[in-house]
Parts: sequence; C-alpha cells; structure tokens
Amino acid sequence: MLKTISCGDLRAEHVGQQVTLAGWVHRRRDHGALIFIDVRDRQGTVQVVFNPETAQEAHAIAESFRNEWVIQIKGEVMARPEGSENADLPTGQVEIAVSSATVLNESKTPPFNVNDDSDVDELLRLKYRYLDLRRANMRDLIILRHKVVKFIRDFLDERDFLEIETPILIKSTPEGARDYLVPSRLYPGQFYALPQSPQQLKQLLMVAGIEKYFQIARCFRDEDPRADRQPEHTQLDLEMSFVEQEDVLQLIEDLYTAMIQTIMPEKKLTTPFPRLTYADSIARYGTDKPDLRFGLEMSDISDMASETEFRVFTSTVENGGIVKAFNAPGLASYSRRQVDQLIDFAKLNGAMGLVTIALNGEPGPVDDLTQEQIRSAAARFLTVDQVKDIAKRVGAQMGDMLLIIAGPAKTTNFALNALRNEMGSRLELADPNELNFCFVVDFPLFEYNDTTKRWDAMHHAFTSPKTEDEQYLETDPGRIIANCYDLVSNGVELASGSIRIHTADLQERVFAVLGYTKEQVRQRFGQLLTAFEYGAPPHGGIAPGIDRLIMVLTGRDNIRDVIAFPKTQNALDPLFGAPDVVDQEQLDELHLTINMPEPAKAEAGTDG
Ligand code: ASP
Repeated sequence: MLKTISCGDLRAEHVGQQVTLAGWVHRRRDHGALIFIDVRDRQGTVQVVFNPETAQEAHAIAESFRNEWVIQIKGEVMARPEGSENADLPTGQVEIAVSSATVLNESKTPPFNVNDDSDVDELLRLKYRYLDLRRANMRDLIILRHKVVKFIRDFLDERDFLEIETPILIKSTPEGARDYLVPSRLYPGQFYALPQSPQQLKQLLMVAGIEKYFQIARCFRDEDPRADRQPEHTQLDLEMSFVEQEDVLQLIEDLYTAMIQTIMPEKKLTTPFPRLTYADSIARYGTDKPDLRFGLEMSDISDMASETEFRVFTSTVENGGIVKAFNAPGLASYSRRQVDQLIDFAKLNGAMGLVTIALNGEPGPVDDLTQEQIRSAAARFLTVDQVKDIAKRVGAQMGDMLLIIAGPAKTTNFALNALRNEMGSRLELADPNELNFCFVVDFPLFEYNDTTKRWDAMHHAFTSPKTEDEQYLETDPGRIIANCYDLVSNGVELASGSIRIHTADLQERVFAVLGYTKEQVRQRFGQLLTAFEYGAPPHGGIAPGIDRLIMVLTGRDNIRDVIAFPKTQNALDPLFGAPDVVDQEQLDELHLTINMPEPAKAEAGTDG
C-alpha cells in the first residue's frame, strides 16, 4: 500500500508514530514559513505541516501543491499545540510533521469546489460525477448505501435466503411500464427486453424449490421523465414459499427495524408498524401513502354538506362526489392572504376550490359558537349548528380552521392529501428525524381504466385475490380485494408486494379479466403457466426500492443524489453522453434502419 493508515483514521492514540499517508490536497493554508495542508482520503481529512527548517525538500515540493493534487507524505503524528485543536474534526487532536513528500498526480483546477458542499449546478455535478462523489455529502451517501445493502444481505443470509442473479437480457415482463428493448444480432428483427423487475423469474425460483430468494436487482422502466424516477432503479427483490401475507410483512418489519436501529440509531422509529387497510387509508388520509408522523385525519362530511344551502356542496353530492374535510389546529388566525395561498395550493393539486371555515375564539369546545365567530366565504350558506356539527366531526376547537374540499372522490382525495402534507410541514408536525412506517393492505385487485375501458391490475397480474372473492372474477372484478401490500414511510411508498397466484387455472382467469387473449397469454406468460403445472408451491414476496429507502433515511428529495451514476431527469447521462448515435456498421449488423421523426431529423442535421 502507498499508505500505512487512512488520513481520517488518525487520533491522539497515534501520537509518536511514523506514518505514510496518501490522498488529495483538500485545502492549503500558508502561515509565514509553515505550509498547512489538509490531506483527504475516503475516511476523512487530517492536517499535515511542512516546516522548511526541519524538512526543507518536502517544504519545497509542497510549495507547488494545489487543490485536488494526489500526494503522498511521510511524517510523525504529533499532538496539536495547545489551543490549536479542532473539536469539529475527528482528527482535530493531531497533525503530521512531514519529513518527506511526493506528488503522485497533479490535478487541473476542478470546475467546482470539491472541498465544500456548496450548491453547484446539477448538470455540472453529473458531468464531473467523479469529482462530485469526492465531496463529503455524496461520499457519506454512498457509504450509507453500502451499509444498508450489506445489512440487508447479512440479515437475509442469517434467515436462510439465497441471493440469486437473474438475467438482464430477457423477454418483456409486463409490470405496467414500457420496456427497454435490446435488438438481437443473431436473430434479426427480434428483441430482448430489459426486466422491469425479476417478477416472473423469482416466481419460477419458487417453483424450482428455492423457498427463500432475494436479489439486489436492477429494474428498467422506460417511463416518461418524473422528478423522482430514473430509467433504472434498484430493488431488494424478495420471494418466499409457503408463506402468508403476515409472514412477509413481519420479515420486512424486522429487517427495517434492525437496519435503522443499527445504521441510524438517532432516528425516531415507531414499532410495531401499523397495518392499515387501503379503504381505511383513503378514508382517513385521502391516499394509500399516508404520512403518519402527524394526525390531521380527514372526515367525510358529505351527509352534513348535502343538508346545507351551499350549492357547491349539494350539487357535488347530487353528482356522486364527496365533501371531505380536516382540521388545521390553531389556524383561525390565518390572514386572508394565507388562506388564498391555501386555496391556490388546493387548485394546483386538482381541486375545484377550497372552502375554509375559521372558528374565531379562545381555544375550547365549539358548543357556544356564534355566527360572528365564523369566518368563511361560505358563512352565509351555513347555519351555526351545521358548522358546529362539521367542526365536531373533524375534531375542531375554537381557534381552529376547517379545510373542506368538494368534488369527485379521486380528485378530492388527491388534493386533500397534498394539502394535509402541506399543513403537516407548515405546522412543523412532520418531524424530519422520525421514520414512521406502516403497511397498507387489502388493495383492490383491479382498477378500472377509463381511457382504455379495461380493467388494469392494481399491483400486477400475478397478485392473488382473497379466496372468498375469487367468485367475483367473472361477474364483478371491481369488488375483489387482493392479497397485496405496500410499505409506506413518511408519505413515501417504499415497497409493494403480494401473495401470488400459484395455479394455472386462477392465473388464466385473472389474465382474462385483464383482457389478454388466450394467444397473448400463451406467448407472454406461457413459461409461468407451464411451470405452475409442475407443483408450484404457494408463495409471495415484496420488492422494497433501495433508492427510495436511502432518500427517506437521509431526508433527501432528489433520487439522483443517492445513486452513484444517475441519469438526469430527462434520462440523459451527461458523463458518458448517453444515449448516443451508433456507427452505421453496428446498425447494419443488427439489421436496423433509423426512421427519425421530422423534428428530431432537423436537430440531428444541425449537430452533424
Ligand atoms: N415485482 C413487483 C414490483 O416491482 C414487486 C413484487 O410484487 O414483489 O413492483
């Protein structure tokens, strides 16, 4: 090794030792004749001192050092002179008195500061990702990610899981997204697809008798750009045989609890993780990804709203919509402007409007509420008793403000969930140091797609219906509840999974509801259906996203920060410049011709 110890590992206990260090020039300070350099390696930085009186040659070499040069130094570990210790730095008790120095490599001036975490344009960071990853924040994220994955591997290994790789070149594996395709050279005109997930493969492994499988699996989905999406993401893919839903949930709860307690003991963690039904979650939080760090629970007030003189309410209910509300504690004092902001926020999130009712008065029960204490644009359409009833249902007191949205159930719930999360952060109810997990269970098996006029699988086609609901497959698919579950933390969906179908007959009935023809089923899923005919065990699994988990653990909202080499939001790789055109020869080998859309042709023309 070109070093005997890591820079960041040096402590007072090493005083008096001769060491060799190798790393990068992090920062340089000249104090009279003395040159101080902070040398950095992955473990951290340490201060080294070049004294012209004791090491003239080394000092002369250090004169030339610039930031990010790679250097090697030899010297003695010394206690820092009294008063010059740095308590903020793990190595702050010591410094190295250098006796000799070597330049291992020079560096150009980096395009941004590597030695601090100042804001830098993201495109530039991605283009020079290898410099960006040298920065302390990014380095810590990469280390954390390693620890998480290592923990998962050890935890599952101890529980008899086998880690098994599955192919990247495979056949289309429908999970609801578009496939990335790879043209086959040997079979012109034919394509592999990159897996959207190893779903069918892990099920085949269960048929193969593996019983407990996992993989840190890459999944590829060619979706339209979205802030928190990447063309490829990583999942902990997991499958078990002879299990029921609760076995999978308990395993995941144990894994996450142990992982967080070990790796991030400073996080506030609530155990056990509650199990919430989908219906209950939608009713109380307007979403299947509720942030349970705070209450602000919603109530359906459609029945009360339809009794009022307020047309917005009554016509919504008449048209089959809902009126739903939650209470914002202490917000009766919100100004007109603040209320307008909330209304705009609700509209931005798809609501037609937002009705607010402020209950002006000293905190206390609403029993003595008077007309004058009600502040609302809808006040003249509501009696005092009606307001009182609504306030009681949503648990409001005097001094609070009711937030009410009326409209079709889906858009109303969507907007209310956004508003609830907004209030959670405005009122500082969402503790950034808390990780609040829950399982949402009992999802519907199917969801009607108004555009295609077909049933879609809410999770995927391999999810089993509750046994007692199988009878409705041909008659009333919409009422079937699935053996399906999500893991949610702080309002983010971290995993989906299900107990699978394991008989060909039931699988074919589900495919039929999804509108696949017999021919399509045979062509796309033949392998799975055939395997099911050879003694497939009951099985189920789940696939927690690793990128999202790291985001939730670190409170990051940019998925690119938790991936070493991510694509931009527009699916570009600025480091390699991918995607890119290929040589005509490569196209010829694949028997491909490019048939560009008109605008793209023009662009390509100007690029040469
Ligand atoms: N394959 C599923 C997904 O990627 C997860 C699962 O059901 O295990 O969402």
